[in-house]
Amino acid sequence: MNIFYYDIAVGLPLRQCFTYQSKFIIKKGTRVIVPFGKKTIVGIVVKKISNPDTLKGLKEIISIADDSPCFDKSSFEAITWAADYYHHPIGEVFFSFIPTLLRKNNNKTLSASNKFSEYQLNEKDKKYKLTEEQSSVLLKLIKVKKFSPSLIYGVTGSGKTEIYLQLAETFIKKNKSILILVPEINLIPQVLKRFKDRFSGEIGIYHSRQTPNQRLKIWQRSKFGEIKIVIGTRSSVLMPLKNLAAIIVDEEHDHSYKQADGFKFSGKDLAIKRAQLENIPVFLGSATPSLQTLKLVKDKKYKKFDLLKRVDGKKPPKLIPLDISDSPLLGGIAIQTMSIIETSINKGEQVLIFINRRGFAPVYECENCGWVAKCSSCDSNLVFHKSKNRLICHKCESVYSVNDSCPDCQSTEINTFGTGTERVEEVLRSTFKKVPIIRMDYDSTRLKGSIEEIYEKTNKSKEAILVGTQMLSKGHDFPKVTLCVILNADGGLLSPEINAVEKIAQQLIQVSGRAGRNNNLAKVVIQTRYPYDENLKQIKTGNYQLVADQCLKINKANAMPPYSSVTILRAISPNPQSCIEFLKKVSSLLDNKKNISIIGPLPSIPLKIKGNLRNHIIIKSHTKSYLNRVLKFLTNEIETWPETKKVKWTYDIDPYDMS
Ligand code: ADP
Ligand code: ZN
Ligand code: ZN
Repeated sequence: MNIFYYDIAVGLPLRQCFTYQSKFIIKKGTRVIVPFGKKTIVGIVVKKISNPDTLKGLKEIISIADDSPCFDKSSFEAITWAADYYHHPIGEVFFSFIPTLLRKNNNKTLSASNKFSEYQLNEKDKKYKLTEEQSSVLLKLIKVKKFSPSLIYGVTGSGKTEIYLQLAETFIKKNKSILILVPEINLIPQVLKRFKDRFSGEIGIYHSRQTPNQRLKIWQRSKFGEIKIVIGTRSSVLMPLKNLAAIIVDEEHDHSYKQADGFKFSGKDLAIKRAQLENIPVFLGSATPSLQTLKLVKDKKYKKFDLLKRVDGKKPPKLIPLDISDSPLLGGIAIQTMSIIETSINKGEQVLIFINRRGFAPVYECENCGWVAKCSSCDSNLVFHKSKNRLICHKCESVYSVNDSCPDCQSTEINTFGTGTERVEEVLRSTFKKVPIIRMDYDSTRLKGSIEEIYEKTNKSKEAILVGTQMLSKGHDFPKVTLCVILNADGGLLSPEINAVEKIAQQLIQVSGRAGRNNNLAKVVIQTRYPYDENLKQIKTGNYQLVADQCLKINKANAMPPYSSVTILRAISPNPQSCIEFLKKVSSLLDNKKNISIIGPLPSIPLKIKGNLRNHIIIKSHTKSYLNRVLKFLTNEIETWPETKKVKWTYDIDPYDMS
């Protein structure tokens, strides 16, 4: 009888695979049940091996969980690429891309429903003639047949979504499938509606707020070729759609494509890798493309397709810096701003107010002794949430009850300082008593269907004021908005961070894209104490390409990304000394390496989260491939050190924040 040996990845934070034996031939990418310590768990077959190092103690695979592999060849390769590129335990990478129900030993088996969705084009929904720009871009994009990343640089309101729909149409007609990625769950309903209006047939959606059963269903329906269109967030990037024709990455610049914790991958970069492995087109859409993408366009690795005019032919709104140095603020709003808002409301128009902070007030303080409410396990002030009458830590989401008297001096003179969305909402409510004030932030969109409700209420209302965080600035289409107000741009303008200008330019231009989709007189008011700031002057032109070119020049001169490759190595421990010792040892190991520079150890911001202290070093090199090799060497070394046992350490490859 033949015995076969397999390397198996398990869903644990372990960088190695484990060898098991079996009497059966099993394809790689298949789920198997294996004994592991005292448990039996799910593993994924990584490869068949002919000669294990040792046969002693080799355990046997208990059973094969499914009739077919979970991953086809290209997804499998995309995963091994990702585990290597992000230096992340491969089992966890595999598990990130299968539904939770398939990660457990629970008798679930991949199964087809054999209900194949038919797709019919709803011709009536194609109600307008494409603009000249749209037609010419679409014609070129349809001709892209193989792997070749295409940037669709389309100003807000230039009709990018219409291009996606017509691209999808060409693939669906050929009986192929298509994957559409959006950066945030909140953006799904809008895109979903456009696809549902255009195609009859099931459109799958996939994101982390669905139930495990919903996710399993869509994943299986994709795998067995029962559905052909899926819209999802980064976790759907390896959706096992059959006959995949292309991947669309909408709002490609958006940092929400990057996972913030655990396996810190970029959904966008993985989409591009998958497209390369499948040799299919990938379309990246944005009005404010990332510097990384623009550099690759310059290097002729990506092609760029411009949509520079709005479909309605209207000019983009004017960005107007408003000097508030001498103005008292009421709930973050200056008097002049309030009267501009009033004018719009009196005309029966809608206004959008943008503030980058949720809750009522970021500071809850004793007027008598200066005590400030802080989280007991993080290095951060508690934010007062009036609607819940609670103090909440935005770092760990711990909730505290509100003190009526100061814990230090027992004074009852406790006050709140600063402004968040709730305070803005309250001030507007008392000023505009009859106008609907609609808040859109993390707290108001937690519940299922809440985003749809916000759309409905906004579209139904005549005049209305929307108040929201960055969530409101992204891709949403509120056709009646003619005025946008940005309450606190200065934080972004003055930020010392390396990519601060890119970020604030993207944010301001994206916000401005929410205004005046149907109006020539739309404007964006930016409250600032620095109206003559050089960067603001450039951003004010609304010409993103200009700002981006400038940023690229500066980053090139400073050898910063995308002209270099950066990784953050963070160490976390209740004991700060352990972090520093560990990071210093890493620094000294890498110090003599050619073409590597190290900054730090630095305290991370915030220094403390959930009782743990955080420090990091920034590792920089000239190319990604070289840095990858150095990190591989480093990882092997680190894992042998006694110092490593005292800390939790992680890499953030291509970080979005350097703090
Ligand atoms: P973007 O995604 O670039 O911001 P959208 O695709 O959402 O733009 O288009 C903005 C609005 O214009 C949508 O309501 C869409 O239905 C409409 N639209 C798209 N193409 C055309 C066109 N050729 N003529 C008129 N309206 C259009
Ligand atoms: Zn006090
Ligand atoms: Zn906390």
